[in-house]
Amino acid sequence: MSCLFCRIAAGEIPAKMVYQDEKLLVIEDINPATPLHLLLIPRKHIIGILDLLPEDDHLIGHIFRVAAAIARERGVAESGFRIVANTNADAGQSVFHVHFHLLAGRSMAWPPG
Ligand code: AMP
Ligand code: ZN
Repeated sequence: MSCLFCRIAAGEIPAKMVYQDEKLLVIEDINPATPLHLLLIPRKHIIGILDLLPEDDHLIGHIFRVAAAIARERGVAESGFRIVANTNADAGQSVFHVHFHLLAGRSMAWPPG
């Protein structure tokens, strides 16, 4: 298995686990861009947003609801947060197993750089 996030999900590569259930894991990003920078990663190997199927609809809804719960728990729901799914080269996707960045803890610029 060569996919980094599949290997983290399988416990083969250590990660700082924040939350996990049968559908997804949430880990701390190894190179945080904001004071709170988490990655929400489905256990299912899906390459990216372009590869989502109708059968994944429930999974994606679940991921966003978990993200909202974590934002509340971490005290950033009111101050604000950003959820990002980089897709392909222009967006800087570097891991080709779909994931959502949860970014918070400081004011962020818009539009992104
Ligand atoms: P992207 O560039 O959108 O594909 O996001 C990949 C993210 O994975 C980057 O923010 C990396 O810092 C992060 N990352 C890479 N390797 C690891 C790792 N072993 N544990 C946690 N996060 C990682
Ligand atoms: Zn994978």
